[in-house]
Formats: sequence, C-alpha cells, structure tokens
Amino acid sequence: MILGQEPILLTPGPLTTSPATKQAMLRDWGSWDTQFNQITATLCRDLVDVVHGGNDYVCVPLQGSGTFSVEAAIGTLVPRDGKILVPQNGAYCQRILKICKYLGRAAVELAIPEDQIASPALIEEALKRDPSITHVAQVHLETGAGLLNPLPQIAEVCRRLGRGLIVDAMSSFGAIEIDVRSMPFDALVAASGKCIEGVPGMGFVIAKKSVLEASAGNSHSLAMDLHDQYAYMQKTTQWRFTPPTHVVAALRAALDQFKAEGGQPVRGARYRKNCKTLVDGMAALGFKPFLSPEVQAPVIVTFHAPTDPKYVFKAFYDAVRDKGYVLYPGKLTQIETFRVGCIGAIDDNEMRNVVTAVAQALDTLGVRQIAALTKAA
Ligand SMILES: *Cc1c(COP(=O)(O)O)cnc(C)c1O
Repeated sequence: MILGQEPILLTPGPLTTSPATKQAMLRDWGSWDTQFNQITATLCRDLVDVVHGGNDYVCVPLQGSGTFSVEAAIGTLVPRDGKILVPQNGAYCQRILKICKYLGRAAVELAIPEDQIASPALIEEALKRDPSITHVAQVHLETGAGLLNPLPQIAEVCRRLGRGLIVDAMSSFGAIEIDVRSMPFDALVAASGKCIEGVPGMGFVIAKKSVLEASAGNSHSLAMDLHDQYAYMQKTTQWRFTPPTHVVAALRAALDQFKAEGGQPVRGARYRKNCKTLVDGMAALGFKPFLSPEVQAPVIVTFHAPTDPKYVFKAFYDAVRDKGYVLYPGKLTQIETFRVGCIGAIDDNEMRNVVTAVAQALDTLGVRQIAALTKAA
C-alpha cells in the first residue's frame, strides 16, 4: 500500500501517524552516534516539560511497549517489601495487579465498577485502613472503557497520607493536563505510540529524581532496571542495550509537531472535538456510549454493540475496515461492546467519515436494530 492510502487506525496505539513522523524513520542511526544520543537527551527533557517536572523529575526511556515500562517502574521504584494499592476499574488496572503478582510485590485490589471513577475518598479510606501500604498504582485514563480517573485529587490524597504514587498515564499523557506541581507523583509512565503520536516501540518513565536515585537494587530484572538504565545514560549519554533508533527518531519528530500544534491544551482540544463529532454522529445512528459523559475521556469511546442478531463484531470490523477505518474490539468483561479511538494524526473530518463507514457497514450486513428497543420495567 502506498502512503496516504493505508487505512486510518482508530485504535489507541498503534495509531495513525503524520507523514513527517513516518518520514523521520527513513534514516538509520548508529547507537553510538553523538547526534542520535542528543536526540534522546532532548526527547527526555521535552517529555519532562510536558508535565512541568523542572529539575526535580527525570525521564528514563525504555525499550518495549508501554507495559514494559509499567513493569519496570513498579519493579524499580517499589521496594521489594513495599505494598501497592491498586484502584481497579478496568483491564489496565488488572494488568498492574498481574505485574505485582509476577514481581512478588504485595498488592491490595480496590475493586470499582468499570463505569465508575476511582474515588479519592475510597482510596483515602483504604490507605487509612492499611498503614502498611507504601504506594498507590493508579491508571489515569482506563483505556479499557475510556474512563478518566481524577488524578489531581488522588495525588492529593497520596501526598497528604505520605504514600508513593505511580501513575500509568499511557493514554492520557499529552492529551489531558498533568502537572506535577499541583498533582505530585513518584513516577508517571507513558509510551511513544499514544497521544504524542509517535510509533510504538518504547516507553518512558518520568520519575522524581530523589526517588529514582534511592531505588538502586530494587529491581529483580536487569533489562527492566530503570535505575541502571538511568545511571548508564547519565554516565555515557547512551541507552543500555540496543535502542529502538527509528522509534526514537519518530518520537522526536512527533514531539516537534506536538509542540508546534500548541502542546497538551491544543492536542486535548483536537481530541475532544474528534470525540464529540464521533459520539454525536454515532448517536444519530442509534449508538450509545457505555460511559456517561462526565467520566468519558476524549481518547477512546466504548459503544454498546448493536442488539440485532445479525451483528457479529468480526464481520462489522471487516466491513468498516473495507471502507478504510480500523476499529477496536471492546475490552469489557460483561457486555458486548466495540471501541473507537479519537487519537492520532486525524481530525473531525475523519470522525465524520468513520460514522459514514459504520452506517454503510451496518447496511451491508443488514444490521438494523442498534439499541435495545425497550428497557426492562
Ligand atoms: C496502551 C496502554 C498500556 C500499555 O499497553 P501496551 O500494549 O504494552 O503498549 C498500559 N496502560 C494503558 C492505560 C494503556 O492505554
């Protein structure tokens, strides 16, 4: 397929990247090259700036998908005898619990329905109930349903009760306001292929310098040891082990475009417009979002699947894909849904077009009944 004719990805990573970002990958870099290592250094500085981290925070990049960095952050920054509270309202919170189990870190699950926010009051109560909890691991934007958890208030609870906070901000970083000066955390984790609109292949952890420097020896794993990665980078300017050079170059290009666009406020506004256009257009076809508007983040929208017996996700997916748009399956355990991402190098025209593609796909498949006809009395 030639550039410009490939389908538009409405998936929350990998996502549709701009031509300039793709172009940045046409050059091969040596990992010892001074210029390449300067790219890494400027990238790290700019990523810290996105959350206003100043000199108190540093950015440690890590090879791999986002989950690698979440695992590395927990393994490096939580001491082996630490204990982690995990407010759990979706698939990525469950993944954190699984990581804790693999790493042998004690974890306490705070179960919350997947259409409701992690309530700061409940978190406060759980922390007061168990003084042995040292950290909270909080997913900021639960991409499973598309829900935004109240990070500022949760950070305030952690600060007040003197517990560490590790934030999985994978799908919010760059799109939703995060400011360490008003919402302090020990570490925040995100990745190249989400709202900064790079390509997948590396994550990064923005960590409080003092916390990172005190974390030597915590990690169970050489490859996942962020302290070692940081110390080596400080000493040599290089990555430990082979860097994902093309991914780094693409992320540099993507960050330049992010800054030129106006940074987080403007990117967030574009995504909000995308999201509203999508939700309004889908509503006209009869589709209802799973989440209520107050908790819906403008990054990915979960829709109830059509109730028509003719509806099968795979056939629907293929039919929309044939029109040039790639959707995402639902990730909820109890009910049948599908998801549409609002992020990537796309605007509201794309969102109008995908609604048209959905309407055509339903027509092709003979799916007519979208919402339940009546609610049970
Ligand atoms: C994308 C994402 C991750 C990382 O998933 P990978 O498949 O490892 O990239 C983690 N947490 C959240 C909330 C995400 O959206």
